[in-house]
Amino acid sequence: MAKHKGRGWHSRLLAAGLGVTALAAATSVWTAQADPTGGRKPEARSQEQAVTEVAADIAHASDRGTRGVNITIDDGPDPVWTPQVLELLEDSGVKATFCMVGTQAKAYPELVKKVVADGHRLCDHTVSHDTAMDTKSEAYQSQQILDAERMITEASGGVRPQYYRAPGGAFTPYSRQLAASRGMRPLGWNVDTKDFEHPGVDNMVATVKSEISNGPTILFHDAGGERSETLAALREVLPWLKEQGYSFGFPVR
Ligand SMILES: [Zn+2]
Repeated sequence: MAKHKGRGWHSRLLAAGLGVTALAAATSVWTAQADPTGGRKPEARSQEQAVTEVAADIAHASDRGTRGVNITIDDGPDPVWTPQVLELLEDSGVKATFCMVGTQAKAYPELVKKVVADGHRLCDHTVSHDTAMDTKSEAYQSQQILDAERMITEASGGVRPQYYRAPGGAFTPYSRQLAASRGMRPLGWNVDTKDFEHPGVDNMVATVKSEISNGPTILFHDAGGERSETLAALREVLPWLKEQGYSFGFPVR
């Protein structure tokens, strides 16, 4: 009898234990379902959802179609030149795409925020602007692209770069795929004003006028040295493009 009672007691305890386990499991399922907005996991998931993979081939076209033009401005932000470029663009009613170097974005977050607030778009131009990065390891390319993405996004207050432009056009299949997987469309150009080489305002304007038929994406710089020629060229080129019937847009994604 004692043995039998003992087994009976044990059976009841076991059953009770199973019941507690089942209840606990049910509770945790309920908790997970009833808590869709709180906690770290849902938050992490919603940040991931903001990243949508884009095409990995190099974009040149404008979202404004065949009479669209994309003004792209590289290597900043710069405390001397970027505010002047922004003022000129605002006066002209033109939106542009700013390809930022990670260290510059980190150093001048207020300028990154101003670029976004003015309605322009951000582009990842790597951490340290290594124009030979297509000869470097995948680990190096990844660090250059992803660290710059993070630096720019932090500086902007959470607005992500929508494009990736390799310094000097030094793309690789790997870097294009990586950028695209992070929602950053690889971005090329059609018209190089060569403002970096100080060719003179007239030459820069002439380059735009003669080469815009090549395609809609025009390359300027707002950092890396004296940029007064760039400002003067933009002052001539933007009204001319409008007169020709072009409208200003963003590169396709
Ligand atoms: Zn550059």
